[in-house]
Amino acid sequence: ASGYSLLRNPQHNKGLAFNEKERDAHYLRGLLPPACVTQELQEKKIMHNLRQYQVPLQRYVSMMDLQERNEKLFYKLLIDHVEELLPIVYTPTVGEACQKYGCIFRHPQGLYISLNERGKILEVLRNWPERNIQVIVVTDGERILGLGDLGCQGMGIPVGKLALYTALGGLRPSACLPVTIDVGTNNEQLLKDEFYIGLRRRRATGQEYAELMHEFMTAVKQRYGEKVLIQFEDFANHNAFELLAKYRKTHLVFNDDIQGTASVVLAGLFAALNIVGGTLAEHSFLFLGAGEAGTGIAELIAREMSKQTKAPLEETRKKIWMVDSKGLIVSSRKESLQHFKKPWAHDHEPVGNLLDAVKAIKPTVLIGSSGVGRTFTKEVVEAMATFNEKPIILALSNPTTQSECSAEEAYTWSKGRAIFASGSPFDPVEYDGKIFVPGQANNAYIFPGFGLGLVISGATRVHDDMLLAASEALAQQVTQENLDKGLIYPPFSNIRKISAHIAANVAAKAYELGLASRLPCPKDLVKYAESCMYNPVYRSYR
Ligand code: NAP
Ligand code: MN
Repeated sequence: ASGYSLLRNPQHNKGLAFNEKERDAHYLRGLLPPACVTQELQEKKIMHNLRQYQVPLQRYVSMMDLQERNEKLFYKLLIDHVEELLPIVYTPTVGEACQKYGCIFRHPQGLYISLNERGKILEVLRNWPERNIQVIVVTDGERILGLGDLGCQGMGIPVGKLALYTALGGLRPSACLPVTIDVGTNNEQLLKDEFYIGLRRRRATGQEYAELMHEFMTAVKQRYGEKVLIQFEDFANHNAFELLAKYRKTHLVFNDDIQGTASVVLAGLFAALNIVGGTLAEHSFLFLGAGEAGTGIAELIAREMSKQTKAPLEETRKKIWMVDSKGLIVSSRKESLQHFKKPWAHDHEPVGNLLDAVKAIKPTVLIGSSGVGRTFTKEVVEAMATFNEKPIILALSNPTTQSECSAEEAYTWSKGRAIFASGSPFDPVEYDGKIFVPGQANNAYIFPGFGLGLVISGATRVHDDMLLAASEALAQQVTQENLDKGLIYPPFSNIRKISAHIAANVAAKAYELGLASRLPCPKDLVKYAESCMYNPVYRSYR
């Protein structure tokens, strides 16, 4: 290949880091200025440039440009500065990027499969240059973060998630495929937006929708085999539950909004119990928001309680209550409830709003998963603090604008007693002379390591016990020092090590359940997981 095309190949390009010998051997003479620099210096320069930008979206765009120009440098940066860059390539900035995706669109990243490709999806997959795909993240853009229907512009989410699969979980970038299924959008603003990049029609539903998804799922298996992991991301809940139930029997599928969230929240609860004491079953839970995240978390908590106490699921579920847009979910509402809410309809008189529900149920743990911001009001937090010495309050809705309350509000209103974590990041808070560090209940703790565990064991199906295995592994990474600051998640700076531990625990569970196809099982799974992880240092071209 010519030197010119080498410089334009993001997988191989090193820019000014090509040394003299490489420049001779690969026809690069004259195509680069004389300076030869190290990857570290390139990294320093880009961080310096990024920090000049005041607007987060500019940082996002320049990170995406880097990914298209020099892949190894992009991942090196992301790994070495994970805490600083995660909010750029992922929530909250990725949300704004999706809203403006048409405007900032420069270079397609991933596959767009629309209703126009009906009947030709296998051919479309063949247009993608890589044959060996291990992980696909797919969205239909209908519920992007807490921002609603962004149609085709949801592509930012699969792109961002897969960047994290590589940076945090060590999957090879070439083995990752972002996909957006475009069946239209019901977002009027986008339909009118001259820069919108998707199909200009309202969403297909029912059979038309199901058929396109089915063609996609079938084609993926045909093209990439039995063991490709398909992660469903940011589907609206009616489709999300149905797709998961339908394809978990035939494909290796995982819904991060339902299952990944559950696993990361359960891990935080395990850690929080080390501060507040008691077993899971001794606590009671109230959710605001009974959708994918809320009911997914609730189900995993009930499952774990049931494992610990040997009580049946029907019993342990009774420790968990939910409020949706119509108030507390109670048995008298059962007839009119969506099927995923039914297990949570317990006997109680109707309660119309969150504050009254908090007062009626007196939960020890309050979890926000409604996508609506500012719903944990001063009264709600104060109520939690009146009947709990240390109320556990999780404000999961993303992005930051949708957060149920801020870290500062949680600590101030509870007079420094709340154990708080949130979906989007908040800075540490000083209250009454003490520094509180809020944890981030970010799915990015779990899914990269979870996916790595499935891949290294050659898992053929996802089992709920693997989610519990991931939660346990994550909780084990929280140190006493973290807990002393109120932090129920470990810092992201250790995420590659954390991912290796999660991967090992998940893989071990896959072997135990007979769902692993890569035999024999390696002796030291943590070491093995680490040895499989993608490393973004430049190779030398000699
Ligand atoms: P979803 O499936 O659409 O569920 C939303 C739920 O919230 C529904 O039960 C809805 O009630 C309820 N709701 C909406 N407005 C409400 C209001 N004003 N008062 C009370 N309840 C209300 O959405 P999801 O997938 O669960 O996601 C919800 C949020 O969680 C999003 O912001 C997302 O970003 C966030 N999330 C965070 C994490 C994380 O931090 N790790 C992970 C996943 C999701 P009805 O059913 O009555 O409409
Ligand atoms: Mn999501």
